[in-house]
Amino acid sequence: MCGIVGYIGKQQAYPILIKGLQRLEYRGYDSAGIALIHDGKLNVYKAKGKVADLVQFASQKDISGNIGIAHTRWATHGEPNLVNAHPHYSQSEELAIIHNGIIENYALLKEGLIKEGYTFHSETDTEVLVQLIEYVKKSNGVDLTSAVQLALNQVIGAYAICVIEKSFPDVIVAARKGSPLVVGIGIDEFFLASDATPIVEYTDQVVYVGDEEIVTLQRGKSIEIKTIANVQKTPEIKKLEMTISQLEKGGYPHFMIKEIFEQPKTLSDSMRGRVSIDEKSIKLSGFIDNKEKFLNAKRIIITACGTSWHAGLIGKYAFEEFARIPVEVEYSSEFRYRNPVINEQDLVIPISQSGETADTLAAVELAKSKGAFIFGICNVVGASIPRMTHSGCYTHAGPEIGVASTKAFTAQVTVLLMLALLIGKEKGTITNAFYEKCVEELANIPNKIKRILEQNETISQFAKTFTYAQNFIYLGRGYNFPVALEGALKLKEISYIHAEGYPAAEMKHGPIALISQEMPVVVIATKAGMYEKVVSNIQEIKARKGKIISIVTEGDVVVKNLSDYSISIPDTEECFVPLLAAIPLQLMAYHIAVVKGCNVDQPRNLAKSVTVE
Ligand code: GLU
Repeated sequence: MCGIVGYIGKQQAYPILIKGLQRLEYRGYDSAGIALIHDGKLNVYKAKGKVADLVQFASQKDISGNIGIAHTRWATHGEPNLVNAHPHYSQSEELAIIHNGIIENYALLKEGLIKEGYTFHSETDTEVLVQLIEYVKKSNGVDLTSAVQLALNQVIGAYAICVIEKSFPDVIVAARKGSPLVVGIGIDEFFLASDATPIVEYTDQVVYVGDEEIVTLQRGKSIEIKTIANVQKTPEIKKLEMTISQLEKGGYPHFMIKEIFEQPKTLSDSMRGRVSIDEKSIKLSGFIDNKEKFLNAKRIIITACGTSWHAGLIGKYAFEEFARIPVEVEYSSEFRYRNPVINEQDLVIPISQSGETADTLAAVELAKSKGAFIFGICNVVGASIPRMTHSGCYTHAGPEIGVASTKAFTAQVTVLLMLALLIGKEKGTITNAFYEKCVEELANIPNKIKRILEQNETISQFAKTFTYAQNFIYLGRGYNFPVALEGALKLKEISYIHAEGYPAAEMKHGPIALISQEMPVVVIATKAGMYEKVVSNIQEIKARKGKIISIVTEGDVVVKNLSDYSISIPDTEECFVPLLAAIPLQLMAYHIAVVKGCNVDQPRNLAKSVTVE
């Protein structure tokens, strides 16, 4: 949440910063702002709303300067208005700050600063921090880096910050704890951002700033890093594996639909070098290096939020079925605060697209402190979670820009299934014949997804029928139950239609009371997965005049005839059905939202990388 970007070098900062903000807009779009130093002035321009609003506002202003910082906000403290927009000035307007995160003890700090004569204009925690830095700087007579360091020693919370100083137009000071921060190193120039997307077109040399580190970027000097506890660090420069084309829409009207259509490729990427048809085997280096931990695990705890939690639930079904290891799937936000029982023989699997999800990060810290083995499943290479875990597996879905997760979800499920099959094979809890059959089938999944995508037009046509709906119910059993949850979440997120997912048999225990001819019910009724029982559930809904949209296996006639609308997916092994059944549900949510005129890539109130708890 919140995107931050900074630039110092020979070029004009403004276009670089604005382009960077556009790339980071998925992280928040409550307001946008920029600070530039030019000709002895520190100019701050802000606008409520989107980056486009900022651009319009700034078009009347002096936007020169080759040093600057910029921000796109997802409000935590103070409503999303102009005053609360970042950057924030310090009292003397000598300093400007941008911030991603939450300063938890801001109220106490603010009280102290008010007593020292500081006045505040905004309701944000961020303004407190910049005032504190100024106060510390003045009272100790130190430079900006030292002031940031001393101030951060008084701060409790999570942050990625960038600070600039009017009288020193040759320096940006940045720091992080909990929230992400990447530095791009060019020739005589530096870039700073919440993730690498604003940097990729200028340089492939990056430094992922470590937790509790402060970075000083000074013209004509190399990057300097020290910790908040004042220990000097040697920067580790890494090569960025990302291309600009991955960050563009490539002819699609939205990132979300582009990402849905990318899934045959992203799933192949997730399996590349891991699934071998010739050898009929799966290889995951994180598994090979830590085999004993997996084979001796007494329990698996999956910790995640949102869509990743749904992927985790599919993982549970697979781990229990194939590896015969009991699994708990936890919401990270609950797990981290409820004093859970964790021990050294637990295998903890955090799942996070961004690898920065604040609650999941905290869950990892907790599990690590209890001695559990942590195996992360993340998409963004070099993010905080993969750096904190003992081992892990990247999903390799490529950058996901649409706020509603699609390709990251199917890639997470793919990794979980590979892992479950691998443990099952090694433990001997599944037969070799079944394992080999699954390996072969997994490799076929990308082609089967292509076939489903061919029905995009049909789905877009019938989606129009449902824009009237205020509510939707999604039903599935077995592996299809988490898919029902995920389908409902997709619809809620982007179309603002209330939707709930249930295990199909739970209908009779309450939700059936909601059924009327106004209620569309999406039923995942594939051949693999308690088909007959789901057919009975459909009959029950039909009897109460509910509208049925079904996901069926190709060739099915029974459910098709009972349904108002039906989408066919190819037949597959039961555990792989979620990889197929998720696709039409993503398409349906997308088309309903588009017809309703919703902003599918940037749904209201949401942000992609949830770096605040
Ligand atoms: N707490 C800051 C604000 O509300 C930053 C929010 C964030 O990073 O999400 O302005």
